[in-house]
Amino acid sequence: MAAYMEAANRHYYSNRESIGATGDFTTAPEISQMFGELVGLWLADLWQRAGRPDCHYVELGPGHGTLASDALRAMRIVNLHPPANLVETSPMLRRRQAELLPSCSWHAGLETLPEELPLLIVANEFFDALPVHQYDFRGEELRIAWANGRFVRTGEVDRESSPASIDVMSSIADRLALQGGAALIVDYGHMEPAHGDTLQAVSSHAFADPWVEPGERDLTAHVDFHALAGAAVDRAVRVHGPVSQGEWLETMGIAARAEALSRAHPERASEIAAARVRLTDAGAMGALFKVLALTAPSWPEPAGFE
Ligand code: SAH
Repeated sequence: MAAYMEAANRHYYSNRESIGATGDFTTAPEISQMFGELVGLWLADLWQRAGRPDCHYVELGPGHGTLASDALRAMRIVNLHPPANLVETSPMLRRRQAELLPSCSWHAGLETLPEELPLLIVANEFFDALPVHQYDFRGEELRIAWANGRFVRTGEVDRESSPASIDVMSSIADRLALQGGAALIVDYGHMEPAHGDTLQAVSSHAFADPWVEPGERDLTAHVDFHALAGAAVDRAVRVHGPVSQGEWLETMGIAARAEALSRAHPERASEIAAARVRLTDAGAMGALFKVLALTAPSWPEPAGFE
């Protein structure tokens, strides 16, 4: 199962126009600049209170680079200009990111990230794309077979686990403990340990069959925030949240930002209001998406998790 998901997504992100109206799904930073700006302000605020150290910006799975671009612009307000380090495996998306972030550097994994200086790490809709294993109620791992001209799963799903996600989370925690800094992780998923099958495929903004045309559809699974937080709690970092994306954006001041943007661009006021609702409303992305933060032991309390 995990090998199928890994291979399918590797091909998918390297070949398909995945993100945006003409792709298969739309992400928060593509809905509105307010999302990336508030992420940038969250980092900038922490960094100021940490004593304005030299540091690096790191983003995992940056897609079109929109979030990084909006966050870095917001950071410049307080004179924070960290070099941008992007963890991205897709050559096609790297080219896209280069358009918005001409002086960034790329990494295939976390191992090669700078080992000096604190890291300001962001990951939006990254963990949901990492491979999961699925098990039946006896704990038997499910496999994918080829039968009668199609892929089929070998049993009924009782639970999932994502060792790849735990590995990434452990590396983030170890880096923060060693180098200082903070991480903000946003994804859709659950706060309590959950049971059942959450693997899904989307194509052209609609749910699709995960066992048909692997590599042509986006495969994701709900992120188990309980397990992610657990991986970090075992390390020498502090864990904050998860809280819902809606709560977090409201606490971070999306209302004030929407108002300021609408004043500056009255012709776009209704579009800005609609974007805010889409990002924060419980019926849209506000409740399903969660925000989890990690901070180095020596760093201050982050905003948005009170
Ligand atoms: N964060 C962006 C894009 C989300 S799509 C946004 O919010 O719009 C998932 C991103 O993760 C893509 O950039 C994809 O290429 C990248 N990705 C998926 N699996 C990866 C892996 N194993 N290593 C590095 N990047 C990966």
